[in-house]
Amino acid sequence: MNHKIRGKKQECAVCGQMFSNKDLTPYGLVGHDVSNLIKNVASGWEEDKYICFKDLNHLRAEYIKASILKNQNEISDIEHTIIQSISEYEAVSENINEIYNENISFGDRLADKIATFGGSWVFIILFISILVFWILINSAILINKTFDPFPFILLNLILSSLAAFQAPIIMMSQNRQAKKDRIQAEMDYKVNLKAEFEIRQIRTKLDQLSSHQWQRLLEIQEVQNELLQKSENP
Ligand SMILES: [Zn+2]
Repeated sequence: MNHKIRGKKQECAVCGQMFSNKDLTPYGLVGHDVSNLIKNVASGWEEDKYICFKDLNHLRAEYIKASILKNQNEISDIEHTIIQSISEYEAVSENINEIYNENISFGDRLADKIATFGGSWVFIILFISILVFWILINSAILINKTFDPFPFILLNLILSSLAAFQAPIIMMSQNRQAKKDRIQAEMDYKVNLKAEFEIRQIRTKLDQLSSHQWQRLLEIQEVQNELLQKSENP
């Protein structure tokens, strides 16, 4: 209140017009943030300067509007980060399929198919049928002209050969499966790591946003208090 000299006219720092002291606010009574805004409009805004009500209220309204806009921008920033991370996550999962397809050779594919067939009920039923058929035609139906009589030595040879080939084919398929699992685990690790980083980033962003909002709410409240005080003691 020391700034006010009763009855003397002072110049407004913004519009440059002369006002009596009761229509002016001194530098010391304007809040810090609104003060910064006034500095942008009037470069000479400093200690011992005054601003008229009309300009001060206009700039306060500008300040509140800018605060609200800033909040909106920060929220859309977060949305942008989330959308970006979602699209990048999709890119990672696409890469997994690409790597699988690149690593599969013709031999690998054949081994996979044979191993899948060898481990199916179709194969077991078919195999039992062939065995029963073989034994029947060589023991009952063609008693005089059997091509593989008891104890079915040719059948034994065929079965041993089949087992000898089936074992390495199954091992090949298992090796490939292990390789695939390893790539999958690696990718899972990368995706998890990425998700962890992003969650941390979003959490930091949210913390930052909420603290900023509190700060800005306080600033707006400060401006409102100034307005209230002014209307109580004009
Ligand atoms: Zn003015």
